[in-house]
Amino acid sequence: MTRRALPLLDARTAETRLCTYCPKLCRPACPVGSAEAREAVIPWGIMRAMHSLTRCEVPEADVPAVAATAWACTRCGNCRSLCLLDNPVAETLLDARADLHASGDAPDEARAVAEGFPQRLARIEEAAEALDFKHIPRGDGRTAWIPGCTSVLFESDRAVEAAEAVARLAPSGGCTVVADFCCGAPLLDAGDREGFLKHARRVAQDLGSYTHLVTGDAGCAHTLKVMYARLGVAATKWERVEHVAELAARNTHLLDALDEPREVIVHDACRLGRGMGVYEPPRAVLRALTGRAPTELAEHHERSVCSGAGGLLPVTRPDTAEALRRTLADEVREAAAGREAVVVTGCASSRRALRAEGIAADDVTMWVARALRREG
Ligand code: SF4
Ligand code: SF4
Repeated sequence: MTRRALPLLDARTAETRLCTYCPKLCRPACPVGSAEAREAVIPWGIMRAMHSLTRCEVPEADVPAVAATAWACTRCGNCRSLCLLDNPVAETLLDARADLHASGDAPDEARAVAEGFPQRLARIEEAAEALDFKHIPRGDGRTAWIPGCTSVLFESDRAVEAAEAVARLAPSGGCTVVADFCCGAPLLDAGDREGFLKHARRVAQDLGSYTHLVTGDAGCAHTLKVMYARLGVAATKWERVEHVAELAARNTHLLDALDEPREVIVHDACRLGRGMGVYEPPRAVLRALTGRAPTELAEHHERSVCSGAGGLLPVTRPDTAEALRRTLADEVREAAAGREAVVVTGCASSRRALRAEGIAADDVTMWVARALRREG
């Protein structure tokens, strides 16, 4: 194999080596490995492959297939919850993607996502322009509401209602709606680290005057709060970056109970739960709205099931992503046990994935909007 510059992966040698000597303890945790039933795409197999890349042990002809396994990951973090050594597999693979993108070894599908990012931004801006937020009170100007690009692109009819709800909950007495926005996660997942950092710095500059960012999407919240900080691009003024469920959970006294006869099932979004440790707020909101604890899926909290919608998996491995979303849909049906049910999640992509499987799925934002007392 030709020697490649893999600086980020070289710096992760301790992590990749750790897996090499491990008896695959986390194997049952990985949704991708379970769906494909191949050793090459369980965490142990992928980390071992990345280790071999850094040691130039992979025959040149095999490099594309080996490199592609860095994208056989939704970044769900489930392997880490079973790893006794707390090995950060998802973070390591994100660094591997960055190196492999830079060395020209990223899969075509991932490269296309990075190259198509400007067009994606233009589509988001166009969708946001069609929405009228002029009546939303801005309060003292400290809070920015970021609906998330999935909502703006695919569910724009509900965006205004959601913004009204957040404006009523925000401690600053209102919010500025930032709808023409993408946190840059697609670039990060594609491996275009340079492009991501450039975009993130621009975001931090544009939103640098706010102290409080609220978003309706778990992926967006995780990127802005965790990844921007980890990669040193968060704005210094950002005091609180949170998901709308966290804001609503502190304000349940403002929420009216809903008349909801369906069984309400809660789904822990990977980025919200394992990614940021936010498990209780969505449950507190649902309890306040329905007067009862939501039904849990068979696997929840740290062991919750990934919908397959993250980490670019639907683009790089669409069949696997579909298998993952079917597994989650089956788990929801099992929890519903024949009753009419709705699943509430904090992840816009999971919601879309479940709906594609014929499951009634909703998000916390809209439930909050439904339940806000008009008299405030
Ligand atoms: S992530 Fe942990 S449990 Fe999984 S293979 Fe690596 S060292 Fe073993
Ligand atoms: S983060 Fe999730 S998808 Fe990625 S290797 Fe770990 S368990 Fe598998």
